[in-house]
Amino acid sequence: MTATSQTVEAFDLVIFGGTGDLALRKLLPAMFHRFVDGQLPATSRIIGIAREALDDDGYRSQLRTSLADAGDAAKLDTFLQQVFYRSLDARKDEGWSDFATLIGEYADHVRVFYLSTSPELFVDICGRLGNYKLNEGKSRVVLEKPIGRDLDSANQINDAVGKVFDESQTFRIDHYLGKETVQNLLALRFGNALFEPLWNNAHIDHVQITVAETLGTGNRSAYYDRSGALRDMVQNHILQLLCMVAMEPPSSLAPDAVRDEKLKVLHSLKPIDDSNAAQLSVRGQYRAGVAEGAKVPGYLDELGNQKSGTETFVALKAEIANWRWAGVPFYLRTGKRLPDRVSEIVVAFKPVPHSIFDASAGTLAQNRLVLRLQPDEGVKLWLTIKHPGPGGLRLRHVPLDMSFAEAFGVSQPDAYERLLLDVVRGNPTLFMRRDEVEAAWHWAGPILAAWSASGEAPRPYSAGSWGPSAAVALIERDGRTWNEDSE
Ligand code: NAP
Repeated sequence: MTATSQTVEAFDLVIFGGTGDLALRKLLPAMFHRFVDGQLPATSRIIGIAREALDDDGYRSQLRTSLADAGDAAKLDTFLQQVFYRSLDARKDEGWSDFATLIGEYADHVRVFYLSTSPELFVDICGRLGNYKLNEGKSRVVLEKPIGRDLDSANQINDAVGKVFDESQTFRIDHYLGKETVQNLLALRFGNALFEPLWNNAHIDHVQITVAETLGTGNRSAYYDRSGALRDMVQNHILQLLCMVAMEPPSSLAPDAVRDEKLKVLHSLKPIDDSNAAQLSVRGQYRAGVAEGAKVPGYLDELGNQKSGTETFVALKAEIANWRWAGVPFYLRTGKRLPDRVSEIVVAFKPVPHSIFDASAGTLAQNRLVLRLQPDEGVKLWLTIKHPGPGGLRLRHVPLDMSFAEAFGVSQPDAYERLLLDVVRGNPTLFMRRDEVEAAWHWAGPILAAWSASGEAPRPYSAGSWGPSAAVALIERDGRTWNEDSE
């Protein structure tokens, strides 16, 4: 029987931004689940930090509400005994000395400083952690996205953090990499002899990566307006997924072996710039429409009727210039207010070279490997078979389905559960190295510059649709279609 969870060293997890949305919705539930599974050593502490004037009990009662539906309610109070709070302003010295004393109580603990705040505070927080020598020993820092809004600002953040924490202590999180399906992509590709011989331009026709959201930007519109879909989703999550599909087999799962291969993919991406952005990219902005059965406002309405050229949708045709992938398009798309909440990777294989079947047997469809990241993580391999029973040889296209939850009878841990414990273990395999972030900005920057130079506004699309019609044309003019199977 395979163990489901391994114990970790005792640790202190300090969450800067401990009262924020990410902390309450993801990080604390992740820790609670690990506690319920018996994976949190008894002396480990979770320390929330924010400016709000709260004490330990005040914070715990906030969490009692936010974690009410997060799992085994009977264990919540015991879990909360391991949770503490300090009111600190990242920009002021007051209170930091007491905080350092609190951390010093367990000098042997692994210390994880999770920066779940706006990136403008990263420099202040790291500077003060350095001043109080909290960066020494088994200390690690976790940086949430976005790391900058372009190459220069990313470098500024990385330089400032790098003065206090060295690269081996710095964990740049991309929670997509912690998803079960992404791990399974590694298992499928490198744990089976079946796929790797076909994993190239001789057998793969194209790859699609879609990250679609049904929600609009709502009350985060002002924040979102400074970023847009390319910065928010493509530069990080989608490029990381692309790397996992396209990288060469690493020699092992050692952190740098994997990250070296991902970096080579990023370096091999063909540039999209002024010369070709009009053919290879489409950006859109949602207007009012009907989403999930209800009328919803457009992006500009949510923003307060201001003018904005920020894209809420992007579709790209990317190409990787190397021997394995030359000529295989990677179609990437992401957007807000789309009809389904779905994140998936579709690997479409080339059609059979010659059909031996009569037209009456039906049409032959391409084999597709569909890796679904959300809402239900799983993998389907679409195959052609004979329709069972009498009635002649009729062809059917059916999925070989591997729904993880059903197959293994386990609920899937949230990506943050795995990633947080990887930080405690000091394993950065599933985190982005600085050079990856830089390479990703190096590719994304010219796309943003080309859009800005064109002076064209994003194309409008109705909320509840699959983006501007030009995004459909982007793939259809190559004789292909976006994957529409929602099974
Ligand atoms: P949020 O809800 O706005 O929370 C921000 C947190 O930072 C609050 O706890 C706030 O509390 C604290 N804070 C603000 N100024 C501070 C200061 N000067 N000193 C100390 N604490 C301060 O933001 P969020 O949605 O949780 O996002 C946090 C970060 O994660 C952002 O970089 C975001 O881009 C990233 N992220 C978020 C999500 C998500 O799902 N929410 C997903 C991916 C990445 P006080 O105001 O009381 O200080």
